[in-house]
Amino acid sequence: MSHQQNDTPATIADPFEFARRGGRIEGVVDAAGLPRLIDMLRSTASQPVGYVVTGESEKSALGEKLFLHVQAGGELVLGCQRCLEELPYVVDVDARLLLVSADEPLPDDELEDDSHDPVHAGRDFDVRQALEEELILALPLAPVHDVCDAPVEAVRDEDASPFAALKSLKRGKPDSQ
Ligand SMILES: [Zn+2]
Repeated sequence: MSHQQNDTPATIADPFEFARRGGRIEGVVDAAGLPRLIDMLRSTASQPVGYVVTGESEKSALGEKLFLHVQAGGELVLGCQRCLEELPYVVDVDARLLLVSADEPLPDDELEDDSHDPVHAGRDFDVRQALEEELILALPLAPVHDVCDAPVEAVRDEDASPFAALKSLKRGKPDSQ
C-alpha cells in the first residue's frame, strides 16, 4: 500500500478560530510513524489512517463552546494476546474535543459527559498528537482473535509440575536471613 498524499498541516494555528469558522482539514497519517502508538502495533509496516478534523461551535446560556470533531479510520496490525500472531484491527475514531484555553481549568462536570472530552488548547494545536491519543483510546487493551490457540511454548512442563507451585511460594517469601 502506498499513499502519496501530500503532508497535511500537522498543526492548527488557532484551533478556537478554526472551530468558530467551521474549518475542516483531512489527510492521512501513518500509524507506524506515531511514537506512542507504535508500541501497540505488531508490525512496523506503514499503516495509513485517514482522518478528518472539523471545527464546531455551540451556543448555550453559558456562552460559546468550541469543539474539534476528530474522525479517523484505518486498519492497524495489532498483536494477538493469546497466539501472539498478527491481528488486523479496523480502528474507528469519532471524538469531539471541547477546546479549553490553557489558562482555564478543565471543567469537572465535562468529565462526566461522554459525548466529548475537554482538552487544553493553545496556539499551534498538534493534530497528529491528538489523533494519536484518540487512536490509542480506541484500541482494545487485550486484543485476541475470535478463534486461535495459544502457542505450544506457553505451556511448559515446569508450570505443570507439582513443584512449580512450591517454587513460586519460595520465591514469594521474604528473605529471613
Ligand atoms: Zn490469536
